[in-house]
Amino acid sequence: MIRTCIGLGSNLDQPAAQLHRATGALAQLPHSRLVACSPFYLTTPVGPQDQPDFINAVALLDTTLAPLDLLDALQALEQQAGRVRHRHWGERTLDLDLLLYGDQHIDLPRLRVPHPEMTRRAFVLVPLHAVWPDLVLPDGTPLASLRAQCDDAGVWLDTSGD
Ligand code: ATP
Ligand code: CA
Ligand code: CA
Repeated sequence: MIRTCIGLGSNLDQPAAQLHRATGALAQLPHSRLVACSPFYLTTPVGPQDQPDFINAVALLDTTLAPLDLLDALQALEQQAGRVRHRHWGERTLDLDLLLYGDQHIDLPRLRVPHPEMTRRAFVLVPLHAVWPDLVLPDGTPLASLRAQCDDAGVWLDTSGD
């Protein structure tokens, strides 16, 4: 089994319910085991500001699926959530990003891992640190140091519980 980290995000059609449904679906993926999911966080949008706040979380999934097979599965779940392409970094019912696939570096047209933006995004670093505090990234950087330095002003624990 390879340990993977999956970033979840939604800001349309009951975002928290979207993420609950998505984690349930991740737990059902073949050849995979859902290990943990972070709390949900309410986050201000990166990119266009005239869109609703997001709910973000990070799930840990152990899997023997190959990276592109896992990406196919994640994209199928996005489609099942009715994801429509509106605009770059815009609103969406469900976004599932493969953040980490073990220690592997992958550079394919369809798949770049580690996700190239993850270390710059508080909405990724905060939930990832919550669910895996002693993670060391494939380049040797302790996640805790990135978490400590990131500007988390736009990231709040979601206490609405819906
Ligand atoms: P960002 O990738 O900056 O978070 P986004 O999530 O809005 O932006 P999408 O429209 O969801 O981008 O995805 C665009 C393409 O990115 C997908 O078709 C997918 O093939 C590709 N992609 C590359 N690397 C990854 C990755 N690590 N996880 C998910 N998709 C990836
Ligand atoms: Ca994304
Ligand atoms: Ca994506």
